[in-house]
Amino acid sequence: MAPPQDGKAAEVKEESVPQRPISDVVFIIAMKKEASPLVEKFQLTEESNSLFPKGVPWVRYSGKYKDLNINIVSPGKDIVLGVDSVGTVSASLITYASIQALQPDLIINAGTAGGFKAKGACIGDVYLASDVAFHDRRIPIPIGKLSTGDSLDMCPHDETAIIANDATVKDMEGAAVAYVADLLRTPAIFLKAVTDIVDGDRPTTEEFLENLAAVTAALDQAATRVVDFINGKNPLEL
Ligand code: SAH
Repeated sequence: MAPPQDGKAAEVKEESVPQRPISDVVFIIAMKKEASPLVEKFQLTEESNSLFPKGVPWVRYSGKYKDLNINIVSPGKDIVLGVDSVGTVSASLITYASIQALQPDLIINAGTAGGFKAKGACIGDVYLASDVAFHDRRIPIPIGKLSTGDSLDMCPHDETAIIANDATVKDMEGAAVAYVADLLRTPAIFLKAVTDIVDGDRPTTEEFLENLAAVTAALDQAATRVVDFINGKNPLEL
């Protein structure tokens, strides 16, 4: 499986895009704490009639907001470990299953991320990433502004790859969502709110947990502005 080669996975391809306003939007959100404020904001309800395979922990909330049918899909709690199923594997699976089942006009991967102060990121900043790439595949490709890997921490090898390639934010799902959205020709955008400074002096886990609640509020506001902006527009107008 190749990662997005030129980091332009989010790019909207003209031939595959409907010339009508966006009507169906699917948010892919890794953690329940990140999803809950938006579920409330858009007044969505949890769907019990699952479109997904029996027994998976994936959770879907849906409802109408303005002219848009909005679904928020989360991977839910790991069946064995009981923690949010963060990371690229679950993100790919729920993106694939959601596109198959719901045929959305647009995917929005919203979540938290580590930010690099060397690139100007501060706690609570929300980035709308245009480029995404994986950083832990040891494949020497140009790295995008949002860099994705399956670890919350950063080993020296990743650090060299990420910083040398100019990433501003680092997460654990974005490039996986981009890969599947690109595979299925579905436009995708990436909204990432900074919970921790990767190149700062505080331990990532401590800073992440401390800021999670406040920063998801910033994510919630930014996501609402994005949804208000796309309401009534077709994908080429974004
Ligand atoms: N123990 C936590 C796990 C959180 S993993 C729990 O289950 O409650 C961190 C999540 O926040 C991932 O979804 C990731 O996309 C995002 N994230 C925030 N800061 C990050 C960083 N510095 N590096 C990678 N991902 C980060």
